[in-house]
Amino acid sequence: MNFDINALVRENIMKLKPYSSARHDFTGKASVFLDANENAFGSPLSENYNRYPDPLQWQLKFELARIKGVPAENIFIGNGSDEVIDLAYRIFCTPRKDNIIVCPPTYGMYEVSANINDVEVRKINLTSSFQLDAEAILNAVDGSTKLIFICSPNNPTGNNMKRDDVELILNNFQGVVIIDEAYINYSKQKSFIQELTEYPNLVVMQTLSKAWGLAALRIGLCYASMDIIDLFNKIKPPYNINEASQHLAKDALQQTSQVNDWIHRAVAAKEQMIKNLEDFRFVGTIYPSDANFILVRVTDAERLYTYLASQEIVVRNRSHEPNCENCVRITIGTEEENAKLIASLQDFKS
Ligand SMILES: *Cc1c(COP(=O)(O)O)cnc(C)c1O
Repeated sequence: MNFDINALVRENIMKLKPYSSARHDFTGKASVFLDANENAFGSPLSENYNRYPDPLQWQLKFELARIKGVPAENIFIGNGSDEVIDLAYRIFCTPRKDNIIVCPPTYGMYEVSANINDVEVRKINLTSSFQLDAEAILNAVDGSTKLIFICSPNNPTGNNMKRDDVELILNNFQGVVIIDEAYINYSKQKSFIQELTEYPNLVVMQTLSKAWGLAALRIGLCYASMDIIDLFNKIKPPYNINEASQHLAKDALQQTSQVNDWIHRAVAAKEQMIKNLEDFRFVGTIYPSDANFILVRVTDAERLYTYLASQEIVVRNRSHEPNCENCVRITIGTEEENAKLIASLQDFKS
């Protein structure tokens, strides 16, 4: 495939002269910093936060590079995955001219972010077994299609997309394929981050918000070719990841055995939850899940949702999504929380 990333980039972004912050301008060795109008005396906290953070988060990236086996230069960090998604639109999609493809039922932010950026969304639904319709996706592509979003494991269905379908799309689409692996730590599927050298049009997203237990820090990870990473860095807000988040995330990345332990517990709790749910008459299909949640079809999702809310238990009603009639998405909680859910369901009059 003859892939030219620059041909995909918006003209205004190609021409853009990026903002150059004080911390970015000077890269030599210095001990007196009078360049950024900070308060040199300190912060009214036990830790010092008076200096602007590293705009490129190198310490955090080196740690990620070690764990993920991907060079730090191939990593971009966003203020949550949602920032990565928004920046992708702003790099590649000219409003009211370009289009993107999503495969519902899937993560809602791809479409919302497209709407915010005034970019056309083409929807090619997943099949009834929640797999990609690769042929229909490729047929929907035209000269203005810039991005295809693939979520695997998919939210809210929980399943992996078949690798052959993903590869077919990567091999036959001249735009950028964004694979969202937010739930990869729970999955048996192999991550696509080892395939970056194979596919110049590949962007992989992961996050510290799920298995890593750091949703409040807002750390979204993005892996791609250096050419693509350079574009993200060119347009990002200069200090998009705050110092507290950089520092805390770097420390958290040392705790791999704790995180692996939680992953195993969540997977075991999921199997237990599935067994318990199978006993209820109002439960129909429980969809196979490679994530830390399950999609469950019930006789009346609206009634179940309202009942659980009355018991102070919140699940997600996904009934209005394609092929998800009367489906609720249930996150796997602690063993204790899951037991509460099951106990409440025993009193549900279906
Ligand atoms: C939860 C989730 C994310 C994570 O978003 P953050 O902004 O990184 O917290 C990304 N993609 C999908 C599909 C998700 O379900």
